[in-house]
Amino acid sequence: MSQDPWENLFAMIDGRRDDLVELAQALIRFPTVNPPGEAYRPCAEFIGRRLSARGFAVEYVHAAGTPGDSEHYPRINVIARREGAARGPCVHFNSHIDVVQTGAGWTLDPFAATVKDGKIYGRGACDMKGGLAASIIAVEVLLDSGASLPGTLEISGTVDEESGGYGGVHYLAERGWFSPPRVDHVIIPEPLNVDRVCIGHRGVWWAEIETHGRMAHGSMPFLGDCAVRHMNAVIDSLERDLCPKLASRRTDMPVVPSGARHSTLNINSIHGGQAESLGYPAPCVPDSCRLVIDRRLLIEENMDGVKSEVRELLEQLVKEREGFTYDLRDIFEVQPTMADRNGPVARSTAAAIRRVIGREPEFICSPGTYDQKHIDRIGKLRDCIAYGPGILDLAHQPDEYVLIEDMVNSAKVMATAARSLLFGTA
Ligand SMILES: [Zn+2]
Repeated sequence: MSQDPWENLFAMIDGRRDDLVELAQALIRFPTVNPPGEAYRPCAEFIGRRLSARGFAVEYVHAAGTPGDSEHYPRINVIARREGAARGPCVHFNSHIDVVQTGAGWTLDPFAATVKDGKIYGRGACDMKGGLAASIIAVEVLLDSGASLPGTLEISGTVDEESGGYGGVHYLAERGWFSPPRVDHVIIPEPLNVDRVCIGHRGVWWAEIETHGRMAHGSMPFLGDCAVRHMNAVIDSLERDLCPKLASRRTDMPVVPSGARHSTLNINSIHGGQAESLGYPAPCVPDSCRLVIDRRLLIEENMDGVKSEVRELLEQLVKEREGFTYDLRDIFEVQPTMADRNGPVARSTAAAIRRVIGREPEFICSPGTYDQKHIDRIGKLRDCIAYGPGILDLAHQPDEYVLIEDMVNSAKVMATAARSLLFGTA
């Protein structure tokens, strides 16, 4: 080829700018709100129809029986696969199609996908339908670029990422959809800014602590034992004994924002005493108080150690406090994960960012988790990163938007990276 293949690709993507905008708008207009899991099927079928017209073999996978799945809200995932002219690796772009509730504070219709000042506004514009649209255009342009591509391209639209991914990537990974040799490299176009490569995320442990007491009339508290006061001792001990320790632990993971480069603990909720009815509090000494903690862990920590740290603190209270009893229940846990920044997918994406955007890419880790955990832990596929056009801080906010310029640039980065991976030149 006489022309620089990259220039050719970039010119083709520039020429598809309007198509990219229209595609992102069409995706945003499906109100795929989770919970409950609205409009999953029509959104998945829209993606499937488009890619099937481009020669992809399209499969729909219904994650029957997973949380939230029902006749009215079926968990429908779409996976499109196109094998190339010769054998080679499989590059997979995975996007979640679900979005969070709209919430208050919008000045524009969250599902109108309004274009204004070079931006597309709407719930999911940033997280992450702008990224999904960019990956589809990137792949379509690669196919149109005339080069007979070796290897296989895959695009998936999966559900329920915002609620843990059980009906989406978790379900598919357990059934081999995200394991080598079927798939070799994965890019997840989550909104992490157009010049950053996200190689992993911290881990999570959610747990519920319950303290117990004994009910009595509120006018004679000395006849009962107050579970809320026992919980107060738990919170006191968390603040005094655990939180300073966590703050002093620093990770080598490049987590952004840098405040999250430590272990952290949040108290997510607290419920104590009898339920209020008709606006009146119950005149009773509470016999139960429940507290949910959200502990984020670093790659240098291990889950057992994290749990026993909290258990030891509770055991200490059993010794110190008269009448103190507790239960500790696991709710949810995710191991921290971090891909090799010198692995093929991270290296080729970083090189593509240098070429397209002309800046040195930043390698980061996410403070929260996303579907990479399932691909790594269940799929046993380590060569996975997140890279996409959205601005991280805008995710889940009212008036969420994606910059059209960032979508165009990220489509160029994705096409360039995928090409290098397919040809083995990464
Ligand atoms: Zn997301």
